[in-house]
Amino acid sequence: MLCALYDTKPYDREFFTRATEGTVLDWRFHEFRLNADTALTAQGAAAVCVFVNDTLDRPCLEALAGHGVRLIALRCAGFNNIDLPAAHALGLTVVRVPAYSPEAVAEHAVALLLTLNRKTHRAYNRVRELNFSLNGLVGFDLHGKTVGIAGTGRIGRATAQIFRGFGCRVLAYDPVPMPEWAEAHGISLVGFDTMLAESDVLSLHLPLTPETHYLLNPETLARMKRGAYLINTSRGKLVDTTALIDALKSGQLGGVGLDVYEEEEGIFFEDLSAEMLLDDELSRLLTFPNVLITAHQAFLTQEALTEIARMTTENLIRFAAGEALVPGTVL
Ligand code: NAD
Repeated sequence: MLCALYDTKPYDREFFTRATEGTVLDWRFHEFRLNADTALTAQGAAAVCVFVNDTLDRPCLEALAGHGVRLIALRCAGFNNIDLPAAHALGLTVVRVPAYSPEAVAEHAVALLLTLNRKTHRAYNRVRELNFSLNGLVGFDLHGKTVGIAGTGRIGRATAQIFRGFGCRVLAYDPVPMPEWAEAHGISLVGFDTMLAESDVLSLHLPLTPETHYLLNPETLARMKRGAYLINTSRGKLVDTTALIDALKSGQLGGVGLDVYEEEEGIFFEDLSAEMLLDDELSRLLTFPNVLITAHQAFLTQEALTEIARMTTENLIRFAAGEALVPGTVL
């Protein structure tokens, strides 16, 4: 069975090729993204495999169905980039990889905070230039600080547990609370307002939905503790970037670590080092000494890539054989 993969990088090709050795699957790797304009390239493939910045809106899905595609495999956990009702109406089966390595993302969220707080990235550059001065590198102890975890799904729970290991007081908010887990790990379940008001560090671990779009906006940012740090490894559009910049300029936020950005499509994952950056808000964010940005790399570990390729491949093989798909992966 032929599967067309979009928005692929060398590491995707390496891990997917390895996962399918000796199977009935055949890959067609594309470097460009899938959208209504590029859907024609799926011709001849029974399945497509896409990532976070491919755009599977209704026109794209109609084109895919018209070209004979029957399965859409998201090689990620989030699924905000696909029009699911349209996919179902067109008879397309959609699968994702709901849990490939929550620890990969949780550890990156903590790495962002530690780097930002202890200014390791700045120290690294200084020392390489034989500047051994410590001026401007003062951080704070995480031990004893209050960390808010918004969303206690797989990644939020893993992150909360790491922060407990640092000796932090952890406040967690989720509309579907998990009291047994919270009790077992010494974590306090609180309301959204309490989490905002009391957290020295707030880390976001919830999906992007119409309800969570711009969850952090001028009004909610103003209700955070003054000088708090914000970490977002979930989805860029959870945060209103204009309001984020204002909160940084006023000192309402003391630091921001981002692995995602609301306008990341077409920028993140690409080497634009020889080009002009036309996104003024991203350019502004990059000027703050207390902002650290990575380009959606929280998932990028050996373990996560192996599991993403394994789970996707298993579903494709089952689909080709007419068998039931892996439970929990079908949307
Ligand atoms: P999950 O489905 O296991 O958990 C999400 C949790 O968010 C659920 O418990 C849900 O009840 C909760 N939630 C929903 N609405 C909420 C709200 N308004 N406030 C607080 N909580 C709310 O998902 P997960 O695997 O933990 O992933 C979390 C997010 O991380 C994903 O949606 C995805 O966008 C993102 N992610 C990013 C990367 C990366 O590389 N940066 C990788 C994987 C996932």
